[in-house]
Amino acid sequence: HPLLEVDGVTLRYKTRDHLVTATYRVSFRVFPGDRFVLLGPSGCGKSTLLKAVGGYMAPTEGEIRLKGRPVTQPGPDRMMVFQEFDQLLPWKTVRQNVVFALEASGRLTGKAARERADLYIDKVHLTRFADSYPHTLSGGMKQRVAIARGMAMEPDILLMDEPFAALDALTRRRMQDELLALWEGTRFTVLFVTHSIPEAIKVGARILLLSPHPGEVKAELNSADTPE
Ligand code: ADP
Ligand code: ADP
Repeated sequence: HPLLEVDGVTLRYKTRDHLVTATYRVSFRVFPGDRFVLLGPSGCGKSTLLKAVGGYMAPTEGEIRLKGRPVTQPGPDRMMVFQEFDQLLPWKTVRQNVVFALEASGRLTGKAARERADLYIDKVHLTRFADSYPHTLSGGMKQRVAIARGMAMEPDILLMDEPFAALDALTRRRMQDELLALWEGTRFTVLFVTHSIPEAIKVGARILLLSPHPGEVKAELNSADTPE
């Protein structure tokens, strides 16, 4: 069975005077263990799609289902990792950031939460920095913490929105390698968004290429009979 079904999903933003079509009738399925990449140029609707899968935005048309159930709100079964370096709580240490996510979601508490946190902090090679605060870490290290926090929740699916886009080229390549090593032999399911073709090819097992102009495609499709 598919884990995630995105079925004819159109996503529109209402601005003051017009509608912006971010995605138009997008469909795809993600199976358990997939490393699925949404690839496309800036503005093609990748982040918007990921937000909708995360439950932060409702489809204008179509449906998104996780394990067969419609997605209606965010949940700890879908953890997000963002591009920004400031997604960690600055007043909490590396370990506290991971523990907080586990406890706030009700996943684990106390000693069990600390042990789970330490396991994933070790997996991203940050054991030495477990008691450090985010502002003392480099950009790459902060992204590792965000990845550890997302994975420690052991979500059904990890949603990654250009997690390495703000890193320098060398760090980005190193992080891609680390991520692949991290996933090797596991059944982690990942939906990964990027505008970079090399990155998509490197981290993805399956790639969906999104059109840069969903709105224009819509106009064309409406004038002819809509093909499936
Ligand atoms: P990508 O992640 O591929 O760069 P986005 O999902 O961010 O694309 O954006 C898709 C389209 O939706 C773009 O045309 C963008 O300008 C528009 N958009 C994104 N966020 C908003 C918003 N909050 N309000 C209005 N339009 C938006
Ligand atoms: P960047 O993102 O700046 O390229 P990385 O995250 O790849 O840096 O870190 C490179 C290495 O430098 C890390 O493996 C780490 O050991 C070391 N390092 C980075 N920041 C610090 C820090 N604040 N304290 C100690 N060592 C650090």
